[in-house]
Amino acid sequence: MTAFLDRCRAIAGAADSLQYVLDSAAAMAPYLRDWRGRFTGNALAVLRPGSVDEVARLVRLCAEERVPIVPQGGNTGLVLGSVPDASGTAVVLSLARLDRIRSLDAVNRTVTVDAGVILQHVQEAAAAADCLFPLSLAAEGSCTIGGNLSTNAGGTGVLRYGNTRELCLGLEVVTPQGEIWSGLRGLRKDNTGYDLRDLYIGAEGTLGIITGAVMKLYPAPKASVTALAALPSPEHALRLLSLAQDRAGASLTGFELMSAFCLALVAKHFPALPRPFAGPSPQYALLEISSNESEAHAVALLEGAMGAAFEAGIALDAVVATSVAQSRGLWHLREHIPLAQAADGKNIKHDISLPVSSIARFIAHTEPLLQQAFPGCQLVCFGHLGDGNLHFNVAPPQGIDNEAFLVNQAAVNRVVHDAVAAFGGSISAEHGIGALKRDELARYKSPVELNLMRAIKAALDPLNIMNPGKIL
Ligand SMILES: Cc1cc2nc3c(=O)[nH]c(=O)nc-3n(C[C@H](O)[C@H](O)[C@H](O)COP(=O)(O)OP(=O)(O)OC[C@H]3O[C@@H](n4cnc5c(N)ncnc54)[C@H](O)[C@@H]3O)c2cc1C
Repeated sequence: MTAFLDRCRAIAGAADSLQYVLDSAAAMAPYLRDWRGRFTGNALAVLRPGSVDEVARLVRLCAEERVPIVPQGGNTGLVLGSVPDASGTAVVLSLARLDRIRSLDAVNRTVTVDAGVILQHVQEAAAAADCLFPLSLAAEGSCTIGGNLSTNAGGTGVLRYGNTRELCLGLEVVTPQGEIWSGLRGLRKDNTGYDLRDLYIGAEGTLGIITGAVMKLYPAPKASVTALAALPSPEHALRLLSLAQDRAGASLTGFELMSAFCLALVAKHFPALPRPFAGPSPQYALLEISSNESEAHAVALLEGAMGAAFEAGIALDAVVATSVAQSRGLWHLREHIPLAQAADGKNIKHDISLPVSSIARFIAHTEPLLQQAFPGCQLVCFGHLGDGNLHFNVAPPQGIDNEAFLVNQAAVNRVVHDAVAAFGGSISAEHGIGALKRDELARYKSPVELNLMRAIKAALDPLNIMNPGKIL
């Protein structure tokens, strides 16, 4: 393997082999551990190429030597897709050095970026051109566009702007054979055969390495205003969603659900954040309304919707942010739920989606089943209600050690995922499959669908060197 590493260094490490081809345990450690700290893999080396050409040459070398490749962006993925297994036979190929905004076309409303650009930097580049890049998630300071594309990330703007797939017009990909496919077309209409771009999006690095992308931009709203509504139940949250959609249409840019337990966790671990209400209510909904006219227009729409919600007996209480800072404060409550969960200890996570209309019935059906099987367990239920996406996480009963509770993982998954299947939902709404949910996927997808997926994988990556063991 020394010869293999020497050849890697000749390709990517010429400028600084210590920085760009890592093989010491200490230097590799951050690339081998998953974000939640649940798993640490092993690798031959971590490769950090500095150009698309270096990526292609490294992939050709790995294909020749039959060395598996694990592509990695910000390593914020939540399903063990971006870390290698424990065998130590793979290389991690980090895209972090491919971090250039290549160009921005304000008239075409597109930005062309390297895959390793951090999401927040794309948002900032768009804002500097008075445009909006609407993908937004709590990991945006660390995750990369390549990772967002490879997981088809969702986040908080999906209701209005769609998933990462909807935001992408073109891709540049290094194939498992080390060829470069340049599909960096900024076209909104392009019906010229099979859509290769859509194959790579959401493929979690199993079909090739995304090295560049053309992403859509939107007019920046003049103002976005936010309200937090206290509600009696998830059913009331659905009624509020319908009401807000009817009144605000496409101006409704966010609609998030949070249970009382979620906000209690945030208050416990982040006491400096605002506490908008004097006492608890069973559920909360965060609404965001954006206007391309003015702040006054956005506030009028939001106040109108909330007024109607009170009249219809939907909301128990509400705060409407009257400034951008207050709006940020309300969003912080939502964004801190995953962090508060992590601070509270491990729990059993589910990132599920359902038809929006079934969500309240799904919660009412599934929570009692969990209580029956695991008395006293605590549900951390929050999510992007407008997209039908719930993070339906199960924490141990009070006083029970978190680690000890994790032995129930498979049994808890079964209760939740069987209910998801019964309601016509998906066991992975936005985080992907990775290694974590591979067996669950095999259980819930039909043999026909799995065989079609296997056929695509075998056709594009016959040597099975691209992120093997992930998804399939
Ligand atoms: C606090 C927190 C909040 C989050 N919130 C959300 C959320 O709201 N919505 C959501 O969808 N996700 C969320 N995530 C999950 C995660 O941030 C996203 O999946 C993100 O898109 C991953 O980007 P990354 O650059 O970190 O990718 P990584 O974690 O490095 O990789 C993810 C997968 O993509 C592959 N990959 C990475 N880069 C490439 C590339 N260039 N070419 C080919 N394959 C590649 C990897 O092999 C892996 O399979 C959250 C994570 C955290 C930690």
